[in-house]
Amino acid sequence: MGGMCDTALHAETKDEMMGAGMAHLEVAHPEMAESVKNMPKEDPMMVAWVEKFNADWETTPEDT
Ligand SMILES: [Zn+2]
Repeated sequence: MGGMCDTALHAETKDEMMGAGMAHLEVAHPEMAESVKNMPKEDPMMVAWVEKFNADWETTPEDT
C-alpha cells in the first residue's frame, strides 16, 4: 500500500484503508510499523506519503 509494499488491500473508506494498512504493517513489517508510528505527521516523508495516499485513493477505481 502507498508504495510501502505491493500487498493489495481493500477498504470502503480512507480511514479503513489507513487502518488496514497499519494492521498489515504490524503483522508483516513490524519494523516499518514502528518507524511509521514514531514519525511525526509533519515529517516531509510522512506528508509526501499522505499526499500520495490521497491521490491514489482518488484515482483508484473501487473494484479492481
Ligand atoms: Zn506488506
